[in-house]
Amino acid sequence: MTSKRFSGMCVLALAALGLVCGRAQAQFDSPVEKKWTVQEKDDKGEVKDVLYMSLDGVLVHETDPAKAPQPRVVTPGTPSTQDQAGTAPSDAVVLFDGKDLSNWSADDGKKTKWVVEDGAMLPTKDSGMIRSKGEYGSCQLHVEFQTPTPVEGEGQGRGNSGVFLMGQYEVQVLDNYENTTYPDGQAGALYGRKPPLVNACRKPGEWQCYDIVFHRPVFDQDGKVVKRATFTVFHNGVLIQDHYDLSGGNGWLGPHAVTDYVAHGDKGPIMLQDHGNPVRFRNIWLRELAD
Ligand code: MG
Repeated sequence: MTSKRFSGMCVLALAALGLVCGRAQAQFDSPVEKKWTVQEKDDKGEVKDVLYMSLDGVLVHETDPAKAPQPRVVTPGTPSTQDQAGTAPSDAVVLFDGKDLSNWSADDGKKTKWVVEDGAMLPTKDSGMIRSKGEYGSCQLHVEFQTPTPVEGEGQGRGNSGVFLMGQYEVQVLDNYENTTYPDGQAGALYGRKPPLVNACRKPGEWQCYDIVFHRPVFDQDGKVVKRATFTVFHNGVLIQDHYDLSGGNGWLGPHAVTDYVAHGDKGPIMLQDHGNPVRFRNIWLRELAD
């Protein structure tokens, strides 16, 4: 190869690299990043080039509150123990604090048959699902639950309940402590679509918790999903769903199928399932999030 031809190929290769880099850069259109240099005197009076940078027009390390407002102050809640439920953060919507079911109704909007016992709420025979009176979209949701003792049943029949976001996207509740079932139906599964990353169940009779970060799906005018729901879930502090992009609805259609996405509004209730097992719940709160 001649040196002229070789250098020509290098120019082409560099141009191609530039195109690739340009494309990679173009994928990240937010935040808009700008950099510039200003000559400034340092403490010793020497003039130096100082690099400045802004993200979406706000200077890095900006201190003017008009340009970079301070984050809102939230007083954290207290953690729960096995003997006592904790409390919610100061900006949370408290759905159940162990006292009453005033924030809840039956699925049909009538008075629920669920009851409160020793600071926990639980279904009674044939009480059906319970739903929050308030409706919510994207949110951070904290729920504590306790599967029953003595243990009865196996597989899906043991300590089955569920936490339903927007009344339809289920994070499964099940007693999977030394109890196996199909992975996409076990505790912490996004029912029928995504098993949890690990099984972090405590023993039946022990209090457990889910901390869920949910972003609702978004639909266009034709009812087509244009942004899928995402779930991040911690089970007893262990990450079990890592910003998972839900591929469709997870209502039960039969042994081997679940629902597709069906367009719905921006908000829906939090619902808890009555699957015929006396699973107890306590300390339920949420914080609404931007989509
Ligand atoms: Mg269930």
